[in-house]
Amino acid sequence: MQMRIGGNNFESADGRWIDVKNPATGVLIDRVPSGTPDDVARAVDAADAALVSWKKKPVRERGMILFHAAGLVREQHRDIARLLTLEQGKPLKEAIDEVRGFAGILEYYAGISAHSSGEAIRLGPAGDCLVVHEPVGICGAIIPWNMPVIIMGWKTGPALLAGNTLVLKPASTTPLSCLKLAAILEKAGLPAGVLNVVTGSGESVGAAIVRHPLIRKVSFTGDCMTGRKIREMASGQSKDLILELGGSDPMIVMDDADIDKAVEGALRGRFYNAGQTCTAVKRLYVHEKIADIFQKKLRVRVESLKAGNGLEPGIDMGPLNSAGQRERISGMVNEVTKNGEGTILTGGCPLTGPSYDAGHFYRPTLVSDVSPGSRLLTDEIFGPVLPVITVPDLDSAIREANQSRYGLGASVWTTNLATTKRVFDEVHAGIIWVNRHLTVPPEIPFGGMNESGIGRENGSHALESYSRTKTLFLGW
Ligand code: NAD
Repeated sequence: MQMRIGGNNFESADGRWIDVKNPATGVLIDRVPSGTPDDVARAVDAADAALVSWKKKPVRERGMILFHAAGLVREQHRDIARLLTLEQGKPLKEAIDEVRGFAGILEYYAGISAHSSGEAIRLGPAGDCLVVHEPVGICGAIIPWNMPVIIMGWKTGPALLAGNTLVLKPASTTPLSCLKLAAILEKAGLPAGVLNVVTGSGESVGAAIVRHPLIRKVSFTGDCMTGRKIREMASGQSKDLILELGGSDPMIVMDDADIDKAVEGALRGRFYNAGQTCTAVKRLYVHEKIADIFQKKLRVRVESLKAGNGLEPGIDMGPLNSAGQRERISGMVNEVTKNGEGTILTGGCPLTGPSYDAGHFYRPTLVSDVSPGSRLLTDEIFGPVLPVITVPDLDSAIREANQSRYGLGASVWTTNLATTKRVFDEVHAGIIWVNRHLTVPPEIPFGGMNESGIGRENGSHALESYSRTKTLFLGW
């Protein structure tokens, strides 16, 4: 596939390509141009040329284009989901959820377009003021590989509705579904140049987006380290940043919880998308009164998960997205074994055998008795490995949950309202779920505290963040 700039397909300025391979089989699916800073400059020119007429369109017309695109995505959701599974590895049923989720995001923003308004302020004899919302201008969107479709929705939905134009860079291992969705948006009526997709590496294309002086706002989702680099690159420019970074979400299960429901919550919370989700359950704290039974039940469920090629029926967990990703996970688990930092209850190594050897599969893993300083607790484990920690009471659960430099999400599993209130008030995270984990519908603001990032995506907050107020003061 070629990249899409100003409504046209392009190869890269220097003719180089990136291979896109199926992480379950190693088979080449397609290739995309390895873009350059020149391609970013060309995309910014296209976004600049499209900006004035796009922002002058009535907001309801922009909303109708998003709505129409959502309809086309729903019609084609199986084909898009198949492409997503091929490049990312996740089971088809998860890919279908993600693609429908993208349509849901566009529908949400199309829906609120009817309510988008400004404000009139009457100041008495001093005059009257009219406050309107204007788009920020040309925005940059940098997407990771773990949930490329949903994250593209979080960035394009509010930015486009608010009247901005975009230069978007997908991750190098998962560019195909983003390119396909951009083509659908154009088919739905998005004018050429409003959304430009430049494929290529982070160091070349990503950095050029962050550095380009005409790009007024950059929304980045990815690793904390990359987030730090982006902050440095953007410093000294008056550029607005949204940084959606890593997480190490705690899940607290109290002794009054519905154990079976919590076991299913931990299973989905950790092993969905092979554990490669920013708000996955990454540390599980279980009250000591129920720890044994909880651990036994969870282990049975973890061992029942069927890993394999996401396109095959009945698969619960696909491969990791890349060889490097599997090496990182293996390295962290091997360190635990070597240093005696925990007990592997199940898993703890790559999945091998004729169906797995060509892919990047890793066994679903549970680790107990984890030492406090272990990297399993201090770093983000972006894969199917769950440390389970026994706690004597709520105080220790909250204290340990907060022993993290991250602050993306957290959940508490309980039937007690006072417990809920304490966790909500005291645990540092952008979202606290009760008897649930992971779910992020389009209506709610999403983003982290501490090293998990700055800014919020999703919901009406995101729409505001892609706009600036401009005031007309009428001194009669
Ligand atoms: P990554 O930082 O390696 O890459 C993310 C994107 O940034 C890719 O498109 C990459 O090409 C680009 N990039 C890399 N270096 C760059 C640079 N120097 N300048 C500009 N762009 C650059 O992250 P990843 O491995 O793709 O994603 C996994 C991480 O994303 C995890 O830490 C996960 O928790 C996080 N994540 C966070 C959220 C959230 O909303 N908070 C959601 C999903 C994933």
